[in-house]
Amino acid sequence: MASNLFTSPALSFELIARCSTTRARASNLTLPHGPVQLPMFMPVATQASLKGLTPEQLEETGCRLCLNNTYHLGLKPGQDVLNAVGGAHKLQGWKHNILTDSGGFQMVSLLKLAKITEEGVRFLSPHDGSPMLLTPEHSISLQNTIGSDIIMQLDDVLVTTSPDKARMREAMERSVRWLDRCIAAHQNPDRQNLFCIIQGGLDLDMRRECCEQMLARDTPGIAIGGLSGGEAKDDYCRVVATCTALLPDLKPRYVMGIGYPEDLVVSVALGADMFDCVWPTRTARFGNAITRKGMLNIRNAQYARDFGPIEPGCGCMCCRSGEGGMGITRAYVNHNASKETVAAHLLSIHNVWYQLNLMREIRQAIIEDRFPTYIREFFAGLHPDKTNYPSWAVEALRGVGVDLLSD
Ligand SMILES: [Zn+2]
Repeated sequence: MASNLFTSPALSFELIARCSTTRARASNLTLPHGPVQLPMFMPVATQASLKGLTPEQLEETGCRLCLNNTYHLGLKPGQDVLNAVGGAHKLQGWKHNILTDSGGFQMVSLLKLAKITEEGVRFLSPHDGSPMLLTPEHSISLQNTIGSDIIMQLDDVLVTTSPDKARMREAMERSVRWLDRCIAAHQNPDRQNLFCIIQGGLDLDMRRECCEQMLARDTPGIAIGGLSGGEAKDDYCRVVATCTALLPDLKPRYVMGIGYPEDLVVSVALGADMFDCVWPTRTARFGNAITRKGMLNIRNAQYARDFGPIEPGCGCMCCRSGEGGMGITRAYVNHNASKETVAAHLLSIHNVWYQLNLMREIRQAIIEDRFPTYIREFFAGLHPDKTNYPSWAVEALRGVGVDLLSD
């Protein structure tokens, strides 16, 4: 076997290039529903549909792996319907890959009365208020029924900013015990990949200990969890850098809940491969377009007579004119911004395309070993005067050999 290849019953991971300066990597991940190219951003299709995009439109952005929420699918249509239809791919007419979360985080964040015990997450049904329990076994059973290509362990998630060290340790250790229960409950290891989730808050020693214990379980992929919960960006970067330094080269590394373009660029430089976030579609519903020069609110009156595309040079279906493109103008989006759905759909298509294209550009830069130059150009695009670079990004990038402030 080649030394750049890892294979597992339902996945193969081939490392094809490394940045000679940073810790960035480019790789090919082959999943049961086809190959995907890393590093990558995964759009979130909450209820088996991406808000504002049809499966065809999502496919057209180049997306080959999207995220579904187990909690939402478990409630509606529910496990019986999913079983009857043959899983989430069939339900939503999506022939590419799906990743599902465990459902635990959604419950804890959406349901005020959720309580975590060793058994699982206890909560009251949002339908009739009856007490329910999500155990590691039940989460895996639901994800087995959904049939997603990557499934996530149930973990005990605590906001990283919690000052309670003892509770943080309990959550980390419990997440390891729950991984063992998930592995034991998993019915389809030949066609679904179970990823572990590293916890430990902002405590780097606890993160290291968790890495060691999780890696001993030898799952086909590894997630770094619990972040994007309001911690300082410096702390976020320290946790990611600490974990990636300990992870094996030949497995995919997924940092959960991350999606701002600057965060993606820096996290790739720190050695992460996969990301997800609802932000690109959520912010579209507020009239915001993600561009190389930052966010533009197209509802702003200045765009009412702007007949250029949402972003000049963008290759998305909305901005592109000619073959298959719609040639949509900022003025048109602005005009429709009050009739929420049309403008939100157009901006969602643009924003998802922007995120996926950003990752394609990053990947190409890594392969051609010019990623440090790409990083400098990317930040210069967002901050043309170069004086207001975010200090967390400057520090984190300096730690992997890229100085944003020198030319
Ligand atoms: Zn566009």
